[in-house]
Amino acid sequence: MPDRPAMKRIILKLSGEAFAEAGSSSGVDPEIARRVASEVAAVADDGVEVGVVVGGGNMVRGAAFAERGMDRSTADHMGMLGTVINALALQDALEREGKETRVQTAINMQEVAEPYIRRRAMRHLERGRIVIFAAGLGAPYFTTDTTAAQRALEIGADVILKGTQVDGVYDRDPNLHDDATRYDHIDFLSALNQGLKVMDATALSLCMDNDLPIVVFRLLEAGNIARVVAGDQVGTLVSSGR
Ligand code: UDP
Repeated sequence: MPDRPAMKRIILKLSGEAFAEAGSSSGVDPEIARRVASEVAAVADDGVEVGVVVGGGNMVRGAAFAERGMDRSTADHMGMLGTVINALALQDALEREGKETRVQTAINMQEVAEPYIRRRAMRHLERGRIVIFAAGLGAPYFTTDTTAAQRALEIGADVILKGTQVDGVYDRDPNLHDDATRYDHIDFLSALNQGLKVMDATALSLCMDNDLPIVVFRLLEAGNIARVVAGDQVGTLVSSGR
């Protein structure tokens, strides 16, 4: 199995559900945001440069609203605005942990956050600030997984850490099949061809084309982000396999 990549600068992808109220997949729970923030703060305290891409599925998923008759682009704009709510919740929680943070949005809203400026984001990271990237790519028909891949490439991150509800990538849905097996490692092409739910195909293709590894792991397990960053065999490594 290939070695885990070095992790000096990371993009952590948090789905909107990571902020949801306990027992629900919607809403924002400040206590859950605080738990996530303390885990993120711990790796930043160890000197890792951390960028976070936040999802918005706990608010609005554009595709689901479009299925119910709404104009897709409008629904996607609503989804992107939802990610900003999560970003502000995370910023607040991180600052209560004593971390310096910046939120940068791909849709301008200067009253609440900086606009996304790549060079400025990199400067913040070099100075030890945690940068939270919100509003996706600012364009409909994309996801925040694709945003994570795009931002990671732009800022020169070593890896994407994708925190999820399950502890890695399985050959089939572990909620439906008792005998599902978890991969320690899988290469990009196999993940794509098997349609495994690692990330959507656009995001996965972008990572594959640019040799950007992904580690998929369970988010809400104490100390897990730090373990992944330390190179422990936690979750599933998705990479070119070379
Ligand atoms: N979205 C978008 N363009 C982007 C990123 C997100 O249109 O570049 C919209 C899209 O409607 C998506 C929603 O924002 O469903 C929330 O993002 P996502 O579904 O990726 O959130 P997650 O599943 O990570 O919670």
